[in-house]
Amino acid sequence: MFNECGNGWSDIIVRLNERIMLYLEDHPELKRQFNFNSVKEKYGGLRVYYYPYNEIIENFIAMAKVEASMTCELCGAPGQMYSDNRITITLCPSCASLKKSLKQAVYTC
Ligand SMILES: [Zn+2]
Repeated sequence: MFNECGNGWSDIIVRLNERIMLYLEDHPELKRQFNFNSVKEKYGGLRVYYYPYNEIIENFIAMAKVEASMTCELCGAPGQMYSDNRITITLCPSCASLKKSLKQAVYTC
């Protein structure tokens, strides 16, 4: 699997990969076609690209995305989204404090 995320999310990605592989073991038909295109960080969230679409795998990915949205992308500590004009990134308070330009993202509904 191609992984472009920071190290903080590596456990989440490893667990996601294991879940998917276990599921594929039970579904050889799908396993033959299955292909991970990439896993990456985009706008502070985890993105997983694969083929073909599968509802169960979507659920596994949805769980991993929720975990990633609460995990520092750099060190794996509990985190939240920060942003400046250019980037949005999920960080813990101590990693965020190293990047002075970042402010905690404020979302209004
Ligand atoms: Zn951190």
